[in-house]
Amino acid sequence: MDIHGLQKMTLLDYPEHVAATVFLGGCDFRCPFCHNYELVDGSFSPIMTEDDLFSFLQKRVGILDGVAITGGEPCIRQDLITFIKKIRSLGFAIKLDTNGNHPEVLDRILTEDLADYVAMDIKNSPSKYASTIGLDHFDTKNIDKSVSMLLSSSIDYEFRTTVVKQFHEDSDFLQIGKWLSGAKNYYLQQFTSRNTVPDSTLSSPSADEMGRFLNIVSPHVEHAAIRGMS
Ligand code: SF4
Repeated sequence: MDIHGLQKMTLLDYPEHVAATVFLGGCDFRCPFCHNYELVDGSFSPIMTEDDLFSFLQKRVGILDGVAITGGEPCIRQDLITFIKKIRSLGFAIKLDTNGNHPEVLDRILTEDLADYVAMDIKNSPSKYASTIGLDHFDTKNIDKSVSMLLSSSIDYEFRTTVVKQFHEDSDFLQIGKWLSGAKNYYLQQFTSRNTVPDSTLSSPSADEMGRFLNIVSPHVEHAAIRGMS
């Protein structure tokens, strides 16, 4: 497994854990608001080998208590399951970030109890999914399957949406709320631009808009909140 990025310590990426964040390259989506696009389009080379990563992690046993695995999209990596098992054998809790398009991998992770926390993106309401993820066509059946799996699992999880002014409006959050009905945790994350974002014309929703979206979705889920408001 090539490693495309490593944050050696974070208190933010994995709730209630002192964690390292491991970035894996490649993704099957092309979100125009992506903050890690250099990992998605292959323009950024790996920064270390798997051996380098494990020699780092071995030195952090007892100092860190978790590892967040993100990307890109980790679930497109053939060796993800083996990689996770190896990290768990060192005693770290695992948080997995995913775009939800690989229910067969998620199913294995849940069935074999390989993660302690899953954060799954909900990019938009179903009819706007393709345009929001930068593809011409997209069938949301895999997203549906992943949503159902998490809703019926006992794992700690969250769904989350990066909210972009040009992509999201009130009606989307009504549909998302119904889609995720009964979810334990749902977070709205305010998009912020940066120079690596592929579409520089995109902008952040206002605080009022974020609050309105939160109010629309809140009645449908157990807990909803806004993250990353500037
Ligand atoms: S799914 Fe995530 S990593 Fe992939 S393009 Fe979208 S924002 Fe970027």
